Amino acid sequence: MSKDLRGLNMIAAHSHIRGLGVDATTLEPKAASQGLVGQEKARKSAAVMLQMIKEGNVAGRAVLIAGPPSTGKTALAMGMAQSLGPDVPFTSLAASEIYSLEMSKTEALKQAFRKSIGVRIKEESEIMEGEVVEIQIDRSVTGSAKQGKLTIKTTDMEAVYDMGNKMIDAMTKERIMAGDIISIDKSSGKITKLGRSYARSRDYDAMGVDTKFLQCPDGELQKRKETVHTVTLHEIDVINSRTQGFLALFSGDTGEIRSEIRDQINIKVGEWKEEGKAEIVPGVLFIDEVHMLDIESFAFLNSALEDELAPIVIMASNRANAKVRGTDYRSPHGLPFDFLDRVVIIKTHPYSPEDLKQILSVRAQEEEVDLSPDALALLTKVGSETGLRYAANLITTSQLIAAKRRAKQVSVEDVQRSFTLFYDPARSAKFVASFEQHLLG
Ligand code: ATP
Repeated sequence: MSKDLRGLNMIAAHSHIRGLGVDATTLEPKAASQGLVGQEKARKSAAVMLQMIKEGNVAGRAVLIAGPPSTGKTALAMGMAQSLGPDVPFTSLAASEIYSLEMSKTEALKQAFRKSIGVRIKEESEIMEGEVVEIQIDRSVTGSAKQGKLTIKTTDMEAVYDMGNKMIDAMTKERIMAGDIISIDKSSGKITKLGRSYARSRDYDAMGVDTKFLQCPDGELQKRKETVHTVTLHEIDVINSRTQGFLALFSGDTGEIRSEIRDQINIKVGEWKEEGKAEIVPGVLFIDEVHMLDIESFAFLNSALEDELAPIVIMASNRANAKVRGTDYRSPHGLPFDFLDRVVIIKTHPYSPEDLKQILSVRAQEEEVDLSPDALALLTKVGSETGLRYAANLITTSQLIAAKRRAKQVSVEDVQRSFTLFYDPARSAKFVASFEQHLLG
C-alpha cells in the first residue's frame, strides 16, 4: 500500500509534464514546452533516443540519466513516456524499494517490468444510435468491385465492415447516407434508418462514395465495432492469480505471483495478438537511485532486457562513482561493467536561476497557486541555494499559509514563514548536528 501511495505522490510532482517539448521533425527542444523548461541537451538526447525506440532500434538497451539531485531526471523520463502516448504505462520505482520482506528482489523487479507493459485490448461492443457523418468504402484491399472495407462513422461510433457480397446486399435497403440517423442492431448487425439530419445525396458524391453500394436489399451484416482499453500485464497477472484476486490491485498488496500464471498470461496475450484482438504497448520503467540495485538485480535486468516483452528501462543516478552493491568494486554510477555496456547515458545539469524561476512558475500554475512576483523571486533564490524540490514544496506550504489569512495571492511573507517552518536538507542537517546529543539522548 505504502509503495503505491509513494508512486502516486511521485507522479503527482510531475503532473505538469506532458511530453519532451521538442519539435516533431527536427527534435530540437523548445525553450519551454509541454511543461518542460531548459535542460535542452538532455531533452534532445531523450528525443533522439525515443525516435530510435519507436523505430525498434534499441532492443536490449537501457537509458541512464545521470545528473545532480533535482535536475529533472524523473521529469525527463516522464516526458519520454508521455510522448509515447496517453495510455502508455509509466512506472516509477526507487531501487531501494525492491528490498522488502514481502517478496524477493527479482519478484519485485518482475512486477515492476510487467506494470510497465500495456496490453491494448480491442473489444467488440454494442453499437448504438448515431448520425452518420462519414461513409468510406475502400476497395483497394481486394481490388474487386464487390469487396473491400466499409467504414461508417457516426457522431458517436465508428463501425468497420468487411464488405463481401452479403455485405453489399445488406448495405442497405434503406439507402443510408451521410446525415442519416441510424441504429445498428447489436446482435444481427442490421442497420436501420431512423431519420435524416442534413445531408443530401450529392454530399455522397462529394465524398466519392459510390451510391450504388448503398442501395441494397436486406441482409446480414458482420459487425466489428471496436472499443479499446489498456491494462498492464501486471494487472492481468493479478486478476488471474487465484490466490490474490483483483481486489489486491486496490490494496497494492499482491504478494508473489506464480511463474506458471505469468507463462499462461504470456501465451494468452500472444494469442490475442495473433488474432488481432490485442496489441502490446511497451511502456517506461523508471528506476531511480539505480546505484541501490545489487549485482543480482543487475543480472536479472541483463536478461530481462533481452525479453521480447520488455519495457523501455530508464534509470537515474546522482552518483558519479559508487560501489556496486554485493561486490567490492566501484564503477561509474554504481553499475556493473557488463551492464554499463548496454546503457545509453544522458546527462542533466544544474539549472540557471532563469530556468528555476520558470519551472517554479509552471509548478505554481499546475497547483493553481497565484504567486506574487516577489514571492516567486524569493522561491527562485531559495531554489538556487537549496534545490528545486525543496523550493517546489514551499509553493504548497506557502499557499496554505496564505489561505489561512484568507489571501488569494501568496506573498513574499508567506514564503518566508514557510521557509522558517519547514527545513531544507542542509539546514536540517546543521540543526541535527548541533543538537545531536539531545536528539539521540
Ligand atoms: P533526484 O536525483 O533527487 O531523484 P531528479 O533529477 O529526478 O531528482 P525531478 O524529480 O525530476 O529531479 O525534479 C524535481 C521537480 O522539478 C519535479 O517536480 C519535476 O517535475 C520538476 N522539474 C525538474 N526539471 C524540470 C524541467 N526541466 N522542467 C519542468 N519541471 C522540472
